[in-house]
Amino acid sequence: MHTVAEALEIVLRHAKPLPPQTASLGPETLGLVLAEDAASDLDMPPFDKAMMDGFALRASDLRDGLAELTIVEEISAGKTPTVDVKTGQASRIMTGAPIPQGVDAVVMIERCELVGNKVRVNDPKVRAGLNILTRAKEMRVGETVLHAGARLRPQEFGLLSTVGLASVRVQPAPSVAILSTGDEIVEPSVKPGPGQIRNSNGPMLVGQVTRARGTARFLGIARDDTDHLRLAIEQGLQSDMLILSGGVSAGKFDLVPGVLADLGVESLFHKVAMKPGKPVLFGVKQPKLVFGLPGNPVSSLVCFELFVRPAIRALMALPPGPCWVNANLTKDFPYRSDRPTYHPARLLKTAEGFTIEPTAWFGSPDLRGVLPANAFVLLPVGDQMHRAGDRMMVLDVENDF
Ligand code: AMP
Ligand code: MG
Repeated sequence: MHTVAEALEIVLRHAKPLPPQTASLGPETLGLVLAEDAASDLDMPPFDKAMMDGFALRASDLRDGLAELTIVEEISAGKTPTVDVKTGQASRIMTGAPIPQGVDAVVMIERCELVGNKVRVNDPKVRAGLNILTRAKEMRVGETVLHAGARLRPQEFGLLSTVGLASVRVQPAPSVAILSTGDEIVEPSVKPGPGQIRNSNGPMLVGQVTRARGTARFLGIARDDTDHLRLAIEQGLQSDMLILSGGVSAGKFDLVPGVLADLGVESLFHKVAMKPGKPVLFGVKQPKLVFGLPGNPVSSLVCFELFVRPAIRALMALPPGPCWVNANLTKDFPYRSDRPTYHPARLLKTAEGFTIEPTAWFGSPDLRGVLPANAFVLLPVGDQMHRAGDRMMVLDVENDF
């Protein structure tokens, strides 16, 4: 049986970035990785520009910070200056407007007083260059402004738009098919009959895939029947990744491993030393990745965070994670386990440091028990007395790193 670290290494060995695609900047591309260098098609700013509303003038016209100058033009943003400013003159100018010929400073309007067609300036701090952003100070035409590998955050959208790139090559988000299995499972809109339960894992996996920036495609519920399962899995193998929930344990009707093998999916591990989630399965049918997650909801939840989310991120050329942090236990917590346990817990990030408090939880079927949690604290094997203040490893699942 593999350790979690070994299993994750196997997953990541097979999760290579998808071929780049062209996409326009927008909700679908936010958070994706740029697949090519981006260069500027212009100088920025494209002209010497005013950084204040005020008057453009020659600094040398001021004596002890004082001058009375004749106003020769008014330049608003978007306008081109037409008058060269000579000694004894000034042009009214707005923020973002091009600087006229002949001047070397802009005095803010609060330091100016209008007297007829003249302006009285009083600003002892005026010197050449004041409040002027010179052409190409931010970037030059042809300069690379973003490198391949940059993650597209809102500020990257802004910069790419500045240089005229409304669409770019990106590492696309993988399409991820989700298939619930089990004769006892019914859709959430249905009142369960005797022996039935509702499908909580399907919607939960759709949420997890979407939060990981994958494109989720829910395929419904497959019966514990080889033919039905085979058809559904074949459909799922059209996506970049297929996630199954249920049917991977040791029961008579856990048919998933056999059907996957029949369809040519090579199993790379089946069972990992962890709690919850031990029966988890991973296989490939190149280049498609397949995860068989155990049906108990918290097993499914934890296995997704430990193995599937890193795989989705790797397909997108993002650092895979998962994100581990250290945090101090808030209370004594005796715990006994024969496998490393990922126990639901409340992670608090404060200026003083991180703290972690395990929540009340009775095991892998207890989804309700994980709701107060936002993380999983790793509890090692053995009969352990963890003490308040002990430093613990914590799986931080709500952090987009
Ligand atoms: P399995 O992994 O198929 O043996 O299922 C383990 C447990 O998880 C059983 O009690 C199932 O009823 C339950 N289970 C399986 N699939 C789901 C699902 N999609 N939603 C909620 N519970 C499930
Ligand atoms: Mg089942």
